[in-house]
Amino acid sequence: MSDSTLVSSVYRQALEVIEGVEPRIAEATRNELADQRGSLKLIASENYASPAVLMTMGTWFSDKYAEGTVGHRFYAGCQNVDTVESIAAEHARELFGAEYAYVQPHSGIDANLVAFWSILAHRVEGPWLEKASAKNVNDLTEEDWEALRRELGNQRLLGMSLDAGGHLTHGFRPNISGKMFHQNQYGTDPETGLLDYGALAAKAREFKPLVLVAGYSAYPRRVNFAKVREIADEVGATLMVDMAHFAGLVAGKVFTGDEDPVPHAHVVTTTTHKSLRGPRGGMVLATEEYAPSVDRGCPMVLGGPLSHVMAAKAVALAEARQDSFRSYAQKVADNAKSLAEGFSKRDANLVTGGTDNHLVLLDVSSFGLTGRQAESALLDAGVVTNRNSVPRDPNGAWYTSGIRLGTPALTTRGFGHDEFDAVAELIVKVLSNTQPGTTKAGDPSKASYTLADGVADKVKAASAEMLDKHPLYPGLELA
Ligand SMILES: *Cc1c(COP(=O)(O)O)cnc(C)c1O
Repeated sequence: MSDSTLVSSVYRQALEVIEGVEPRIAEATRNELADQRGSLKLIASENYASPAVLMTMGTWFSDKYAEGTVGHRFYAGCQNVDTVESIAAEHARELFGAEYAYVQPHSGIDANLVAFWSILAHRVEGPWLEKASAKNVNDLTEEDWEALRRELGNQRLLGMSLDAGGHLTHGFRPNISGKMFHQNQYGTDPETGLLDYGALAAKAREFKPLVLVAGYSAYPRRVNFAKVREIADEVGATLMVDMAHFAGLVAGKVFTGDEDPVPHAHVVTTTTHKSLRGPRGGMVLATEEYAPSVDRGCPMVLGGPLSHVMAAKAVALAEARQDSFRSYAQKVADNAKSLAEGFSKRDANLVTGGTDNHLVLLDVSSFGLTGRQAESALLDAGVVTNRNSVPRDPNGAWYTSGIRLGTPALTTRGFGHDEFDAVAELIVKVLSNTQPGTTKAGDPSKASYTLADGVADKVKAASAEMLDKHPLYPGLELA
């Protein structure tokens, strides 16, 4: 049997089993595949994991509790989970050249929580316990404990601002990172849109953060992590790099040297489901120095690990160590360039004028639209994107003025230069045929819009041709 025949029969039978219990879920699962197959997915944080990765998640490992670490569990019978977790961690260490890898976090946010509390444990709690000659916090007197709690809650974090492309976990006030730390933010140069290392250094000297966070969700350029580490060292900060978005480019050796965060950061966090193309989850890499505190992610901020997802992380990381993943990662970056050029030659505005990673940030204000209007009009035409603020966005974080577009997902389907050029053309076609609407009172609306008749159908037909040429999960037939 060919691979795709096998995969088809596995999923057909699995859906039959699900159908026997809750047919609406079987139907939604079928519909989700059809939707993913039939739309141009340009969401920069999404991808398509392999059938091997997806299938690994659907097993009885989901039924096992395994709080603790490999060989040191709070539950009996964890020998197979130990196997799975060790293999995932080993692949992660070897793939990224990391001294230590922690594969338990359930998501990117959880990985960041583990990192924050590990840094606090290593830099604040550890020295405190040593001073008090206590083995752990249970040995502290009430007075000491109160004072330590105040100290833990009195630390500073400096991260990239949300509208410059940072993530909400990098000190955004509504997020816990903006509440548990005194936060401060750095941004990008108003002229070039590029990260301004001089301004970052000046802010770090003035603010003296305990934690300096680098990494982004919507910045279309590479970062020189060697330079950021120098700044961290100068002010005595721990450098934490959140590579959630671009881990695939690090794994695929597109980002090397100063652009590879792993040799420069004390702690590196990531998701596993974005450009890395694994299961939905998180991971923390660390130096030997930070390893013991990261290793206490459970019980610090995590409960039982998702063993079925750790197993799928191991499979995905094994895939990412293959040569084919390197060429995939290179194509992701090349395709982002093709997409950017496609926009530039059609006079569309890109934040920073282009890209050298996996995403572009299109400023839609020259079309007279908000990000919200652009996102909705594109969705009507079968193009799935997400609106995103641009630096100093006049429309705020809800309506925004930008659209973020990434290449990891369609590159997995096999899209190349010509297809991404065509994608830029289709997007420009939709946006230039969209008019902003008005509110009931007749004022300009930031949400409503009209897309000229017939455009959505034309764009859908053109996309369908490309999507058919590059099928998602080729050969997988559910009926
Ligand atoms: C996506 C992302 C996260 C959060 O990941 P979740 O799995 O959604 O919790 C954290 N940091 C950055 C930089 C991200 O892009």
